[in-house]
Amino acid sequence: MSIRTGEDYIQAIKSRQPEVWLGGRRVTNLAEEPIFKQPIKELAKLFDMQHDPKYQDKITHICEETGERVNNAYLNPRNGEDLKARRELFEVWSQATFGLMGRTPDFLGTVVTAMASNDWFFRQYGDRWGDNIVNYYKYIRDNDLFLTHAIINPQNDRSKASNEQVDTYTHLGVVKETEEGLIVRGSKMLATLAPLTDEVIIYSYPSFKPGDEKYAISFAVPIDTPGLRILCREETQNGTRSTWDHPLASRFEEMDAVLVFNDVLVPWDRVFINQNVEAGNLLYPKTGINLQPSHQSAIRGLVKISFATEVACSMADSIGVDGFLNVQNQLSELLQGVETIRALVRIAEYEYVMTPYGEAIPAIVPLETVRGILPKLYPRAIEILQIIGAGGLLMSPSGADFANPELTEDMHKHYGGREGVTADERVRLFKLAWDLCGEAFGQRLVQYERYYSGDPIRKMAMFYNTHKRNNPTYPMVEEALRVSLELSKETVTI
Ligand SMILES: Cc1cc2nc3c(=O)[nH]c(=O)nc-3n(C[C@H](O)[C@H](O)[C@H](O)COP(=O)(O)OP(=O)(O)OC[C@H]3O[C@@H](n4cnc5c(N)ncnc54)[C@H](O)[C@@H]3O)c2cc1C
Repeated sequence: MSIRTGEDYIQAIKSRQPEVWLGGRRVTNLAEEPIFKQPIKELAKLFDMQHDPKYQDKITHICEETGERVNNAYLNPRNGEDLKARRELFEVWSQATFGLMGRTPDFLGTVVTAMASNDWFFRQYGDRWGDNIVNYYKYIRDNDLFLTHAIINPQNDRSKASNEQVDTYTHLGVVKETEEGLIVRGSKMLATLAPLTDEVIIYSYPSFKPGDEKYAISFAVPIDTPGLRILCREETQNGTRSTWDHPLASRFEEMDAVLVFNDVLVPWDRVFINQNVEAGNLLYPKTGINLQPSHQSAIRGLVKISFATEVACSMADSIGVDGFLNVQNQLSELLQGVETIRALVRIAEYEYVMTPYGEAIPAIVPLETVRGILPKLYPRAIEILQIIGAGGLLMSPSGADFANPELTEDMHKHYGGREGVTADERVRLFKLAWDLCGEAFGQRLVQYERYYSGDPIRKMAMFYNTHKRNNPTYPMVEEALRVSLELSKETVTI
């Protein structure tokens, strides 16, 4: 099999019964569940784009190994051209979702490709683990599978290691090894889109301490594996609100979940790291597996902040406030933020580096700078939407009001914008903005930008520490001090 269609994806969802819990009940028909119905369609559209002549050559390529067409997420970049091909995929798919869905299939496709490209890392601990990750990569590439991931332990007591929690199987760990594989128990978070995926992959941020051996694991299993329970968070929309009233929330609800493993069997050929604290801690720093997906995240983030900025500009224009100095300043702040991110992404691609293993990776400093700026810029964009929209964000009637002939005159008279902007246009635009800046849906999007790849506070600290390690001296300061000292010693004779 090669690239799937949207219908293939929907049929796969219909064909299985993962244990999904939502609002205190078990969901038995995912495809018909109101909350999931539209998001499934939105994801299916991405698969369909792989077959659309307009996009096909941008987002897919012919696999050298199989001769089949596969998604660009499975391209192991060997040069700048490959990184460009990757970027086109990230751009096309994030534009299709306005950057509002962070964990589209390209994200984890890229993660697994990066892992397989660094199979040397896994082989250090035994060839079987290297073989496993390479075979798994081929399996998801050739079947065009959609993955979720859970790399964080649940927030129980962050001051203690996993082995010090009250119940030592609160965090996911190995119970025992059997002939068939590992038996694992405990939970992981925050598996975005889990109910709508084919597979889950488990790995961790480097945080293991001696004694944490049983937690230092990496593996992948099908999402409907027996014993795997998916506990969804409360929804941000109930799936019945209209697309007229909630143009974004009704389409792009990206469900997050805690995954509980109740003595789940992980077959040996699906294990990549087995109870190895060193491997668990070095996976990120040694393989740089965060960098290829960070490229996806940066481009998706760029599309999302560009979208929020466009909404702010069109909202200001629609009510004739974009002539005011303060509003122009706020909009320029966002526009310059967009340009900053855009420039950083381009620099990351242009200054890519080759690893000793022949992998082209985008430059880390600009990508990490994007990671530092976006968690501040995106919340600021949301604040500016709230400030510019002001009371207008709260005065929007519903689509039902517009549909009632008794209210037609009032609707058109009192809800129109500046000259040329009809009531219908203004209200729909403000509802779009409210989904981003007022609804629970929009608040999750802010939280996503802060936390989608770790704690921004610690990431900023790591950035400084790495900078200091790579730049241990301050040559310009030394030069300035040296010259000024020399000048001060000079005696001026007349
Ligand atoms: C919308 C959303 C979607 C997500 N999707 C995914 C996903 O698909 N897959 C996935 O695996 N994860 C996902 N995540 C989880 C994400 O990886 C974590 O939220 C992130 O790593 C931060 O961890 P935490 O939430 O446990 O916060 P914590 O680490 O518990 O931090 C809580 C607070 O305490 C502070 N703190 C905690 N420990 C320390 C410390 N040692 N030193 C200093 N300060 C500390 C932090 O700064 C923070 O303010 C998602 C998160 C969000 C919000």
